[in-house]
Amino acid sequence: MEVYSPDLPSPSALTSPTPLNTGEEQRLRKRRLGMSFSSYTMTFALVFFCWLEALIPGQVVAQFAGFSVLLNGFFFLLIQSGINLRLSDPSMTQAQMALSLLPALWVMFFLEAGQARAAFLMIAMVPSLYGILALRMGGFLVVGLWFFFFYGLLYLGFYIYKPQVLTGTLDVIQTLAFVLVMAQITVIGGFISGLRGQLRHRNKELNAAMGRIQELVNIDELTGVCNRRRIFEVLAEEYNRYTRTPGAFSVCILDVDNFKQVNDRYGHQSGDDILRKVAASVTTSIRTIDCFGRYGGEEFLLILPQTPADGAMIKAERVRQAIASIPFPDINGEFRVTVSIGVAEYEADETVDDTIARADRALYRAKEAGRNRVELSIGLSNEALDTTIEPEKARE
Ligand code: GH3
Ligand code: MG
Ligand code: MG
Repeated sequence: MEVYSPDLPSPSALTSPTPLNTGEEQRLRKRRLGMSFSSYTMTFALVFFCWLEALIPGQVVAQFAGFSVLLNGFFFLLIQSGINLRLSDPSMTQAQMALSLLPALWVMFFLEAGQARAAFLMIAMVPSLYGILALRMGGFLVVGLWFFFFYGLLYLGFYIYKPQVLTGTLDVIQTLAFVLVMAQITVIGGFISGLRGQLRHRNKELNAAMGRIQELVNIDELTGVCNRRRIFEVLAEEYNRYTRTPGAFSVCILDVDNFKQVNDRYGHQSGDDILRKVAASVTTSIRTIDCFGRYGGEEFLLILPQTPADGAMIKAERVRQAIASIPFPDINGEFRVTVSIGVAEYEADETVDDTIARADRALYRAKEAGRNRVELSIGLSNEALDTTIEPEKARE
């Protein structure tokens, strides 16, 4: 049954941007890891150059290379095996940032020239830039504290093992610059994470609005059933389906009897309430694949896929009876409303407009025959033989 109400899952699911699935996300993570590995490779070139210039011993170059391969390999295996998906942050941004600082600090420990150390400090800060796009302020603070802790360890190492390399002023300037830059990266990161939050929120609002628009495009405002636009869309779908794999489908046109009088007597407002109740009565009794909509005014159309004329007649008759028994306590305890229904099964080679026109002619005959009844159009070639189901007979 095709009726949209705010309680039903909205069709917005069809229009909202599809969230990345796990496979895509994992691929993205591997790509990011690839970027990180190429960054290590470039830094390795610099480390190698330092060794060529005799600034560091050869074993440090090997250690740097080994650490880079181990670290990236470790994260790669976590992603490849899917173990990362069990972590609270499957991207492992914080861990990657924290660990990738260490090899740069390790090289710094062996660099005796103060200025060369400052250059490596710059490199040590690069991983923190990766976090700008992923971490919140709190996450940054944790990473920042981790950085300072190991930076402190480095200087403790210098102090204990080789105090002669400490340069005093240069180290103080370098440390202060490190603190300042890290603090600013943290603030910028926090700012960007705020923007990301806003963006997420806006996206959600936009998706909700898109869903609502999608509903409004398809529903009739007064009754909540499908509108004319949607009815013709479904008819076109049925028509296309029929041309691929023929299978009967039928349409029923319902028209409320003497509705003008009802309006005149009880007022337009009550007339609207009646239309709503009539629509609700039909929508609760049809199948999920059926489509019921307001064709215009007090006329409705019921599309019955996979249903030949005889089935459609039975269904239409049930609908007629159900409507005739709806109570309207707000209007008058005794008051009942009736409908006349014209039924037509789609015939090969005709357009759906032709089918509707035939159903409409059957409806006209139902009106002529006294209303509150169902009429069938038995086909283009046999219209003269069209039958009427008398309410009494149908009830038998
Ligand atoms: P019949 O049995 O021959 O169908 O008689 P009828 O009075 O229903 O037919 P007619 O087409 O002459 O009148 C239809 C009336 O339906 C006219 C209009 O006042 C009323 N109507 C159409 N749309 C609405 C609506 O949205 N709300 C209300 N309250 N009335 C409507
Ligand atoms: Mg009418
Ligand atoms: Mg009418």
